[in-house]
Amino acid sequence: MDFELNAEQRAWQSKAREFAEEEIRPLSLAREAVADPVKTFDWEIIKKGSRLGFRTAVVPREWGGHGIDYVTQALVMSELARADSAISKTFSQCWKFSHRIARACTPDQRDRFLTPFLEDDTFLIGGASTEPNAGSDNRLQPENDPRAGLKLRAERQGDDWLLNGDKCFIANGSVAKLFFISTRTNPEVKLREGNTVFLLPRSTPGFRHAKVFNKAGWRFYQNAELILENVRLPHANVVGEVNGGLKTRTRGSLDFSDFELAANALGNCDAAVGSAMQYVRQDGLASQQRVQLQLAEMHMLTEALRAYVMRVAWEMDAQMRESANVGLVMNFARDVSQRVAVLNMEIHGGGAQMHAHSDKLVRDTIIWTHLAGDSVQRMKSVRRLLR
Ligand SMILES: Cc1cc2nc3c(=O)[nH]c(=O)nc-3n(C[C@H](O)[C@H](O)[C@H](O)COP(=O)(O)OP(=O)(O)OC[C@H]3O[C@@H](n4cnc5c(N)ncnc54)[C@H](O)[C@@H]3O)c2cc1C
Repeated sequence: MDFELNAEQRAWQSKAREFAEEEIRPLSLAREAVADPVKTFDWEIIKKGSRLGFRTAVVPREWGGHGIDYVTQALVMSELARADSAISKTFSQCWKFSHRIARACTPDQRDRFLTPFLEDDTFLIGGASTEPNAGSDNRLQPENDPRAGLKLRAERQGDDWLLNGDKCFIANGSVAKLFFISTRTNPEVKLREGNTVFLLPRSTPGFRHAKVFNKAGWRFYQNAELILENVRLPHANVVGEVNGGLKTRTRGSLDFSDFELAANALGNCDAAVGSAMQYVRQDGLASQQRVQLQLAEMHMLTEALRAYVMRVAWEMDAQMRESANVGLVMNFARDVSQRVAVLNMEIHGGGAQMHAHSDKLVRDTIIWTHLAGDSVQRMKSVRRLLR
């Protein structure tokens, strides 16, 4: 089996590593120590990264992006995450929706939204499904129960749609210029049959964000409540078909979101291993057998995750659509990254001090607990395995 990277993949990897070391690492701990969750964000780092292509990396070349393959995507996400996984995720959140624009949007929608996205270094994208009473059941719906799942209502009025409701935990919620928003267009049927996705520009009257959530980890990443009060959108902003919303996220974009989180977790593991090695050398702990065993476990788990992430990237480039690995790697990434971060903290000792680097890595990996990687995600993966 050939693990060698080609010249383009190596170039993106080096560019990401350099940017992570020189620009992200110096500000990472300072940003996350800011108490107000709104102010942890820094536009300068987004603009700098955007100018290097990290925001628009996956937009296909024929539409003006860089069109990097999945192997390169894994390399870039993990390199950026090695310095700060929340900043890495802010960039790759735009990738998830660039994939969706490429796969599910009409030429008119691409003209109206992809063109400004490509031209503006501060154009971020978000996607909104979760609501105060609808999280896991948007992903794994109970059979034939119209009460389950999101409720944000969209009602047709001539050529327009009127949207009313709330969303919560939405990534890039306070900073994105465009959202893919999931709505209920028929509340009488189960979610899969009555759900429609719209493109919602931030500037639309009636739309605003409210609270930004004060998270334990990924503090840079802006998760916000979204409020829609009589938001009017043209029919031309429907993504895919009316009542076919979930179809627009199947395979391509859902796979990307599992793969993205696994590649990001790998960067966290690399950071923890690097940090533990440095500490052990500095403090002369290398001769202690307990520390040696801890380091060996961290290294072994991280390399196993790397092999799995790169295998999945290769499968996605080869369009092996039936593989269950893309969901399973996400589950593995959650367990591995949490274990590796805790081992790093154990080695450092000194008691879980707020905003120490080892503390940040543990809090950042805790985020995977209720991301797409909870037990419901596991059920989804097993279902795919048994198909
Ligand atoms: C950092 C972060 C970023 C996020 N970004 C976004 C975003 O950009 N857009 C968005 O729409 N959402 C986003 N979310 C929300 C995320 O998708 C939800 O948190 C997730 O779907 C879980 O939903 P919930 O928190 O409501 O938990 P719940 O659905 O209430 O689940 C609570 C617990 O019950 C378990 N459970 C639920 N149903 C079942 C079942 N049928 N069988 C067994 N166990 C079950 C779950 O596994 C979980 O352990 C984000 C969350 C975080 C933390």
